[in-house]
Amino acid sequence: MPTLFDAVSHERANVAAGHLYVVATPIGNLGDLSPRAQAVLSSVDRICAEDTRTTGHLLSHFGIRKPLTALHEHNESAASQALIEQLQGGATLALVSDAGTPLISDPGFVLVRAARAADVPVIAIPGPCAAITALSLSGLPSDRFLFEGFLPAKRGARRERLQTLAALPQTFIVYESSHRIADTAQDLAELLPGRSVCLARELTKLHEQSVVMDAAALPTWLAADTNRSRGEFVLVIGGQPGEPAGNAAETERVLRILLQEMPASSAARVAAQITGERKKVLYDLALTLSQATAGHGTPPT
Ligand code: SAM
Repeated sequence: MPTLFDAVSHERANVAAGHLYVVATPIGNLGDLSPRAQAVLSSVDRICAEDTRTTGHLLSHFGIRKPLTALHEHNESAASQALIEQLQGGATLALVSDAGTPLISDPGFVLVRAARAADVPVIAIPGPCAAITALSLSGLPSDRFLFEGFLPAKRGARRERLQTLAALPQTFIVYESSHRIADTAQDLAELLPGRSVCLARELTKLHEQSVVMDAAALPTWLAADTNRSRGEFVLVIGGQPGEPAGNAAETERVLRILLQEMPASSAARVAAQITGERKKVLYDLALTLSQATAGHGTPPT
């Protein structure tokens, strides 16, 4: 009896001649290779893969046999031109990485940029990405976020980068390996005590785990069980908390002065430049202040 994946893996996708397909692959659970991704991988002429052995295993699981070309950080520049020529000759190519979405802390940028420069159409087949997966389960603010990828390996550079990121108001996302998770956790504990951190490991896999805690508690939590330092990690770190009350008062003072000279929209724009606060926030505040001022002297009707 065919499984769901057998049933769809040989479906022919409508791949178009001369198109480059950027195909996301699972970050652990093979069930996350979408039917559309399977169909595209089954239909293209060639697949460019970060590691042809890793991708070979994935393809054979789905019964797909295709010529593979290695495309990794060491040969991407040299290999891209020949691949663009194949695309210009009408070939259909897929680009995959070992896991997740190509180009996200993975090879592919050089090829996609070259394709764009050569007017080769690029189609993305979206799917798993460890950063987005972790963000979506973290419970930390997700309206704005910064993806950092891997932090520097050297302690000094890593701490400096963390301090820069820590000053920003938005959630930031870091990739980490089992070799460095303890060191990074220690840095976070020392530099960002009080900040919420979601540690997500082995996402979509058998030993998937995600916890949210104060950064200061991370080293102790990791040390309590050696299994907790195993596997692949994403750290989602809460942004710099809202401005202190003193700054809020100063922002309001600036806005009140500007409102005496100009309409709310202009006052919000100028105040945003002065204070660094978001224009929309300032515009809403300006309207509130204007209404309060107008209401003050207006007799009730
Ligand atoms: N392109 C991939 C993506 O879309 O997420 C990322 C590739 S990057 C070379 C590999 C890193 O992603 C790992 O070191 C880890 O930080 C993170 N990662 C990948 N798979 C993961 C998983 N299943 N659970 C947690 N983190 C994962």
